[in-house]
Amino acid sequence: MESLAEVRAEALACTRCGLAGGRTQVVFGVGNPGADLLLVGEGPGREEDLRGEPFVGRSGKLLDTLLHQELGIDRTSCYIANVVKCRPPGNRDPRPDEIDACRPYLDAQVRLIAPRVVVTLGNFAARTLLGTTDGIRRLRGAAYPFGTAHLVPTYHPAAALRGGAEVVAEMRADLVRAKALLIGRRSELPAGGGVLAAAARRDEQVPDGTAARGPAGQRR
Ligand code: SF4
Repeated sequence: MESLAEVRAEALACTRCGLAGGRTQVVFGVGNPGADLLLVGEGPGREEDLRGEPFVGRSGKLLDTLLHQELGIDRTSCYIANVVKCRPPGNRDPRPDEIDACRPYLDAQVRLIAPRVVVTLGNFAARTLLGTTDGIRRLRGAAYPFGTAHLVPTYHPAAALRGGAEVVAEMRADLVRAKALLIGRRSELPAGGGVLAAAARRDEQVPDGTAARGPAGQRR
């Protein structure tokens, strides 16, 4: 089986779609390849394209803050990727053909990282991984089965920056839901299984009541 490093090396030279022509570099993903938690956003913006890392700049700072405050982790304890690995020009939405072309890389990341929980950030990641046309406002507030994992949709941090306190509060609630899923499965976590697993075992106070409802998300 291919390793994540091999898939990354393949992606770094990819010209499968037109986004290759406008990129500074491919933004494959960052973090712990054995993480319990995988976060999936939409695509690189200008700063991400320049730095080669997802979620830098203001959106990234908000995401880092929420990960720290709600999950007690930093980005080295999870893995962060995007639906498309190259920047759409002018930060436009990725097109369906571009999402389809890039999908094998995301599927490989899901398969090889094998997270316990996937948190999607924004419309594109939720729709792509759940195979639905529903929007994030309709999808969020629940957890969905996703292969052997769970998928928790939430807003893109850029939307939370625009939307203000109410949207940020909903994002926090979604991250608490993700943490509760990890805690609920703590008996399955390997001994010493990473910072997130340790944090999950420690925390006895996370609210229960995480909803689980269909449709079932398929890994691929
Ligand atoms: S967006 Fe994905 S499919 Fe398109 S060129 Fe970049 S890596 Fe390849």
